[in-house]
Order: sequence, then C-alpha cells, then structure tokens
Amino acid sequence: MPLTGVTGWPVAHSRSPALHAAAFRELGLDGWHSQRLPLPPEVFEEAIRALPVEGFIGVNVTIPHKPAALELADVRSETATSCGAANTLTFRDGRIHAENTDVPAIESAVRELLGGDAAGATVLVLGAGGTARAALLALARCGVEDVQVWNRTPARAERLAVELGGSPVTDPGRFDLVVNTTSVGLDGGGSLDDLPLSPETLAASRGAIDLVYGTGGAPVATAARRAGLAVIDGLEILVRQGALSIAEWSGRTPDLDPLRAAVADPA
Ligand code: NAP
Repeated sequence: MPLTGVTGWPVAHSRSPALHAAAFRELGLDGWHSQRLPLPPEVFEEAIRALPVEGFIGVNVTIPHKPAALELADVRSETATSCGAANTLTFRDGRIHAENTDVPAIESAVRELLGGDAAGATVLVLGAGGTARAALLALARCGVEDVQVWNRTPARAERLAVELGGSPVTDPGRFDLVVNTTSVGLDGGGSLDDLPLSPETLAASRGAIDLVYGTGGAPVATAARRAGLAVIDGLEILVRQGALSIAEWSGRTPDLDPLRAAVADPA
C-alpha cells in the first residue's frame, strides 16, 4: 500500500490528507493512503529517512520543516534550490528528491489574475518569509518587473529584495495585484490593521492572492472580495500545490474540482 502524508510541527490543522485522499479517489489509485506526520524539528531528519522503509513514496512538508527538507535531500530541483525550501519530498530509486510546488501554484494564480499584462503590472508582496521567496520567484517567472516588497520587519524585506529582486517599501504606493504571504489571519493572529492595505488602495487594484487559510479567517482575501477584486485564496493555492505534488509521486495530475470540494469540507 503506497503511503504519503504531510509533515509539520504542528500539523493537526492541515487539510492535505483530505486533499490527497480526494486525489487518490479521483485518479483511481486504490490503496494509496495519506496521513499527518507531526514531527518536532529535532527528530525531523531521522524520521524522514525512515519513511521509505515504512512504505512511504513521498510527503508534503509544511512549517517549519521546508528548509530542512531541502537540506536533507539527495536530489534538489532548481525551483526548490532557488527557494531555499522544499514542500514536496519524493522517495524514488533509493534517493530523496526535493521539489517546491508552491512556486508553480502561485505562478498559475498570478498568470490567471494578470493575464497578458504581467510585464506592465505593479505587484505588492506582503511578507519576507519562506513563502515570500516562492512568490518572488513566481513573479519573476511571469515576467513581472515592478515588484514592491513590504514586511513588518523592514530589514528582512531589504535582504530579500537584494537576493531575489523587487523594491523594498515601507509605505506602498498603488498596485495592480497584492500577494499576501504574511501569516496575518492564520489561526486568529493579527488583522488587516497590521498590513499597509486600506479599502481605498484595494479598490484601486485588480486582484489579490492570499496564501493564508485556517480557522482564523483570511483578512486580506475577505477585504479584497469586499472591494470587488478577483481573489485567489489560500485553499485554492493549497489545491494547486497539492495537485502538483501528487503528480510528482504518481506521474499523473488529478482534476482539481474534487480536491477543491475536499479542502472546503475536510473529512
Ligand atoms: P514565515 O516564513 O514564518 O513568514 C511569516 C511572515 O509573516 C513574515 O514576513 C512575518 O513578518 C509576517 N508576519 C507574521 N505575523 C505578522 C503580523 N502580525 N503582522 C505583519 N506581519 C506578520 O511563514 P511562511 O512559511 O512564509 O508562511 C506564511 C503564510 O503562508 C502562512 O500563513 C502559511 O500557512 C501560508 N502558506 C500557505 C500555503 C498554501 O498552500 N495556501 C503555502 C505556503 C504557505 P516578520 O518578518 O516581521 O516576522
């Protein structure tokens, strides 16, 4: 029985097992199974190395293990290496392969919202953590040239912009698209007041991508919808990155609609 799962610390909130199960049903992968693997950082590497022996063919990786997942891999994709983080590990041919499917998931969202106008668009990235790195790589792939990077701790935005491009800003100007990679809203932490967004700046914009999903609501997605913007939310990004991870493990890409239904109403 091929085993998969999602590992993090904590990971109880993750909807990935429901998403994986829906994909396995959709693809007719009978007997495939997904489970949560809560691993504290001090046992992460040892536990991951033991998984192939237990019958695991791959796992998704979430906070805080993405950099460590990249580090321990034998084979690293160019995307994961540029990101400095892996969200997908595949156990194949006796080796651990690292990939980052957050980048193409965000890339597809940017292309959907900006259409053919990416090169001339102004995009505001909120945050300077691991997911902001994925967002900056995705924006570069889309050909977006004007990227503003705002972060609560400005020095981190400055360092990120030096490394991956974009202009660090403390008081963002107008933008066409905002990409929220902060954890504001995650499990009730923070609110829209913590971010440099107002109903006016949102209303002058065209779209929003909010990576946050969880029990605390997603203030950026909510405000953007209220302002009439096209929004791609954290659950949709979860579905897109998860489908790409399943393609890494199985060689097949599932239809996204059953996955959307599964994460909207997790078992
Ligand atoms: P991270 O590396 O810990 O970065 C967190 C970022 O949020 C930092 O820039 C931090 O700013 C900022 N932040 C935290 N609390 C804040 C507050 N109260 N006000 C303003 N800024 C605040 O985390 P990450 O790995 O990038 O993940 C970020 C979010 O993306 C999480 O909610 C995660 O669940 C989500 N995510 C979702 C998906 C998906 O599939 N939907 C995929 C990846 C990530 P400082 O630098 O000032 O601390």
